[in-house]
Amino acid sequence: MNIGLAFETPAAPLSGVDLTRQRRTQRLVDSHLRRRGRPDHDSVVVAGNGIGALSFAARLARSPEFAGRVTVVAPPIAESRRLINGVSLRGRAADYICAALGVTHARLLSEICGGEAGGLTANRQTAAMAYAGAGGAWQFTRPGAWQGGAAGSARPIVYGTRNSRITGAMWSLMTELGIRYVPEKAESADQLRAMAAGSAPLLVNATVNGRLLGAAAPPPTRMVLATQVPFTVAAGGLRRPAEPQTAFAPLVRRDGAVDVGYFTPFRDPASPQATWYGIIARVVDTAARVDKDSELSTMTDELYGIGAALGLEPHDPEETLGRAMVPASPVRAPGPSAPGTLELKRAYSVGAPCYYADGMISAGLGGLLAAEAVIRGDDPDRAIRHATRALRWHNYLWWLETTRIPLATDLLMRLNVNLAMAYPHSAGFRLWAASA
Ligand SMILES: Cc1cc2nc3c(=O)[nH]c(=O)nc-3n(C[C@H](O)[C@H](O)[C@H](O)COP(=O)(O)OP(=O)(O)OC[C@H]3O[C@@H](n4cnc5c(N)ncnc54)[C@H](O)[C@@H]3O)c2cc1C
Repeated sequence: MNIGLAFETPAAPLSGVDLTRQRRTQRLVDSHLRRRGRPDHDSVVVAGNGIGALSFAARLARSPEFAGRVTVVAPPIAESRRLINGVSLRGRAADYICAALGVTHARLLSEICGGEAGGLTANRQTAAMAYAGAGGAWQFTRPGAWQGGAAGSARPIVYGTRNSRITGAMWSLMTELGIRYVPEKAESADQLRAMAAGSAPLLVNATVNGRLLGAAAPPPTRMVLATQVPFTVAAGGLRRPAEPQTAFAPLVRRDGAVDVGYFTPFRDPASPQATWYGIIARVVDTAARVDKDSELSTMTDELYGIGAALGLEPHDPEETLGRAMVPASPVRAPGPSAPGTLELKRAYSVGAPCYYADGMISAGLGGLLAAEAVIRGDDPDRAIRHATRALRWHNYLWWLETTRIPLATDLLMRLNVNLAMAYPHSAGFRLWAASA
């Protein structure tokens, strides 16, 4: 059902590809909402300052219903060169973030880059198995393109940039939106309620603390280990299978699972010499005994070794290398939030983060869609559950492929990358590339 509430008009009228993206995003949002009524709340207080929180706050602050009635409570964004959070921003994620902020991709990217943005886009994606050959040097099986074919798509599939720069840029683009900002850690529902700009606020949890507003948060059953660093191109130049404007996924079968690598063009104004970025991630069951430090050092060796085979050198790793062990959200979608609250982060988290480049798209989509639902008096939990079904399913299948049938995945990848990656990866193109 198209209930036809247009996004508030951005500062300048959109045209061409930007207008097409806005219209397609609007259609998608409408397709996941059922009602068009009055909001149930007169204000919102958002705890958190990640992509989900900021997309949600920005879209609401741009609506007549909530203008001047949005409060964000979070410590100031700490930008550092270290790659602490996600780097690979899907083109479709940028569509959602831009729709929430009322800006174009070009505006968002130039704010991120501090000027002209270039060199951070992948228009195709390839993959191969990677293995340590005789003598320890990394080698690859025959690669294949699973998105963008041989020539590359006209649409951006992935932008590579530092996460804290994305949120920093989002904040700068939001300065004129009249959002009340409280630079504190959120501690409780009562504290948030006291900061509301109205008498009937919606309290929104977009932090990693699932218990902040009193919800039950069962312990995770899966964790994700990840190690990531920016790279410069070595004197000998880029080596295949790495190719310009192409994201490359080297997969390593090791100790009963597949370590997922991802190398993509990258830009960060704080590390201007780095033009590539790479990550290795691995999902483990919490029931298994895992030596975190030993796993992460094995994975960092893989990261550097595969980088070297691609002609890449880690860039200032003492300042930029990020190593993390973070919980995966449950496979099943969560239930509804308690009355008067919205467990936003819980609602849009679609499974294991870090290893399918789906954290930022889920956050951008969840934030935008929840705001639209709140403006229309619709149910944001239901809307997000509906809209993230495919993302959740794809994340689950990738987990099955990499942890439950790693041998079959390895064999199929060696036989035929196109076949191995056909579903859900190639079929999921519309969840990766920008809509125009
Ligand atoms: C190593 C790694 C690699 C990743 N790779 C990718 C990738 O390539 N692509 C991708 O799309 N995603 C990736 N992700 C996931 C991605 O970074 C996140 O899913 C994405 O940034 C969305 O985050 P968010 O908006 O949900 O909030 P988060 O980024 O989780 O932010 C939550 C914020 O809440 C704030 N906060 C915490 N506690 C409080 C409190 N009590 N009060 C107020 N504020 C609080 C914190 O300061 C934090 O900034 C990766 C994650 C990691 C860890």
